[in-house]
Amino acid sequence: MKITFWGTRGSIPAPGQETVKIGGNTTCLEVFADDEMRVIVDAGTGIRKLGASLMKEMPAGHINLLLTHSHWDHLAGYTFFAPAYSLAHSISVYGNPMAQEVLRHDIYGRNDNRYFPVNMDDLRADIEFHDELINPLILGSLKITTMNLNHPGNGYAYLFECGGKRVAFVTDNELGLQYPGGNTPKDIISFCQGVDVLIHDAQFTPDEIEKRRGWGHSTYVEVADLAHKAGVPHIYLTHHAPEREDNDCEIILKEANRYIKKKKYNLSCELAIEGDSFSV
Ligand SMILES: [Zn+2]
Ligand SMILES: [Zn+2]
Repeated sequence: MKITFWGTRGSIPAPGQETVKIGGNTTCLEVFADDEMRVIVDAGTGIRKLGASLMKEMPAGHINLLLTHSHWDHLAGYTFFAPAYSLAHSISVYGNPMAQEVLRHDIYGRNDNRYFPVNMDDLRADIEFHDELINPLILGSLKITTMNLNHPGNGYAYLFECGGKRVAFVTDNELGLQYPGGNTPKDIISFCQGVDVLIHDAQFTPDEIEKRRGWGHSTYVEVADLAHKAGVPHIYLTHHAPEREDNDCEIILKEANRYIKKKKYNLSCELAIEGDSFSV
């Protein structure tokens, strides 16, 4: 699998010179499997650039879009996702039903221009919504397992498996609090058990978190502890706070590595950076 980060910012886009290195676009991840099966996770503002790149690389074809939850920072880019306007493309939308509902009925609507000037009927692609939970979801060589998030309004985390390799994508998840409809710490450890790579929300610092309990996010300390308990060798921290400049993100990475070293965890840690890819 090749995983590409098209947007790793949390809450709201944060463009500008101060964020040029880490990136300012909100959540969008591309999973590309050996059999050329492609799954896009979330339609944050990062999906605009991905759409433009797909129009060149794949002028016709099928795209799978998998949604974690309905919050705006995970859907706002869809209105500028070029393949949705292309007669030559078809799109299957999977994942969180509330996110699908917001996409179909609130953002576009039918003859309703409150949020966006274009209506759902104007989208040229053949778009199919699958709003029932399919768990696991099999798409070609990819097996995708779902877990409920601890997040306001809930949502889904995803585990991608292909050719014996496993990558977990857990964004907008509060490790320090259990929500109704969410998951116990034990369930989360078992979901992440032994994955090759864990990409997890680490929006807040340990200093900030106590004043942000109930906001649905985690710290690098909580993510590193989870990875250690689940026997995960590699983590990417994502959903960077919008006010965090490049330098602040680098300080967080240094502090995370200092913590990992102090605890003697067998774990490597990186920041999820817009435009970066990794393969497993
Ligand atoms: Zn978010
Ligand atoms: Zn959210």
